[in-house]
Amino acid sequence: MSERAVAVKPKEDPWEMALKQYNRVADVLNLKRGIREFLAYPRRELTVNFPVKMDDGSVHVFTGHRVHHSTVLGPTKGGIRYHPDVTLNEVRALAMWMSWKCSVVGLPYGGAKGGVVCDHKKLSMAEMERLTRRYTTEITPILSAEGDIPAPDVGTTPQVMAWIMDTYSMHKGYSVPAVVTGKPINIGGSYGRVEATGRGCMITAREACKHLDLNLNGATVAVQGYGNVGSIAAYLLHDLGAKVIAVSDTSGGIYNPKGLDPRAVLRHKDQTKSVKGFPGTEAVTNEELLEIPCDILVPSALEGQINGDNAGRLKTRLIVEGANGPTSPEADEILRERGIMVLPDILANAGGVIVSYFEWVQGLQQFFWTEEDVNRNLEAIMVRSFNQVMAVAQERKADMRTAAYIRAVSRVADALMTRGIYP
Ligand code: GLU
Repeated sequence: MSERAVAVKPKEDPWEMALKQYNRVADVLNLKRGIREFLAYPRRELTVNFPVKMDDGSVHVFTGHRVHHSTVLGPTKGGIRYHPDVTLNEVRALAMWMSWKCSVVGLPYGGAKGGVVCDHKKLSMAEMERLTRRYTTEITPILSAEGDIPAPDVGTTPQVMAWIMDTYSMHKGYSVPAVVTGKPINIGGSYGRVEATGRGCMITAREACKHLDLNLNGATVAVQGYGNVGSIAAYLLHDLGAKVIAVSDTSGGIYNPKGLDPRAVLRHKDQTKSVKGFPGTEAVTNEELLEIPCDILVPSALEGQINGDNAGRLKTRLIVEGANGPTSPEADEILRERGIMVLPDILANAGGVIVSYFEWVQGLQQFFWTEEDVNRNLEAIMVRSFNQVMAVAQERKADMRTAAYIRAVSRVADALMTRGIYP
């Protein structure tokens, strides 16, 4: 094992978390030393510092990254994040998680991720466009429809994907819709992509309830993060009869033990920019939200929210990881001991990249599917993947994260053995 792959980093550093999760399963699988080390490193990393003209005439230099973790299963795939807390280590972790995510659900992709350190909420649309076009230009050497395909993540939208597609296409001299997914429908986006991550969370939660003997009809749900993942998971679970009792966003949370109407909360958020102040609710903090007694907890915000400090106090039966990396390895241990089922991010939130795959295939073929086709195929892959992971969990008497990692890492390791090492 290389020093780098086992290096001790500050607590809750996402890359340290990702390496701990990986090393744990590499031990279980008894991976050969060379393979183990190969997969512990990102394949390539690009950091760019680039200027953007701001609306007031000043020039700001921004830092961005694009990391390809693994190209073993195919082209690399993964979103681009705009957030003030983006770091190279975070992007590395997110790229590695994408490799395992694509692997566990059987997609022909390796993992990648990108990020720009910026306070996206403070940028105007025009600044966001100039930042996106320049960042795209800077990372163009490692982007392509055959090699590395970005998508939305925290802080980026279908409009941002449209600018990426347009910038890349302008440089090529012809339109390349398959270079990015999560695009608006009118330029080659896929039906169902916006809802896909939340829909996948709903599907895995529904399947897990069958195993937990938990009746989803009337089950109480708390959702941390009311963005593209959390809000959609909330209303789709509500549609199945679940009672969404608490939700939150960056400004705080709201709680009503009698249940909320998730679509009305979404309308309130659209109008006021926050879930706070929704009529008939009590205000709670993001930390309090996680500890509210509920049957299903859906952390859909950022990494490390469930950690060694609060894992012992959660009062839930099922955690569905809408976010990437919301649970630290230390918390995982506590939850395992407490018998709380965790549906890991690489499985629970894979709906997004699955429909990104459908969008990529549609873009390459210039043959487009109906929303029904998309949702039917998404449902089939999510249910199949859930059942495969559950089968490993039962066979090995392991928790769902360990089982998902066993499937994900061994698929990549097997492909690596088959391909061999060049030269
Ligand atoms: N950013 C999303 C994720 O973390 C989607 C990635 C994609 O569609 O390529 O899974």
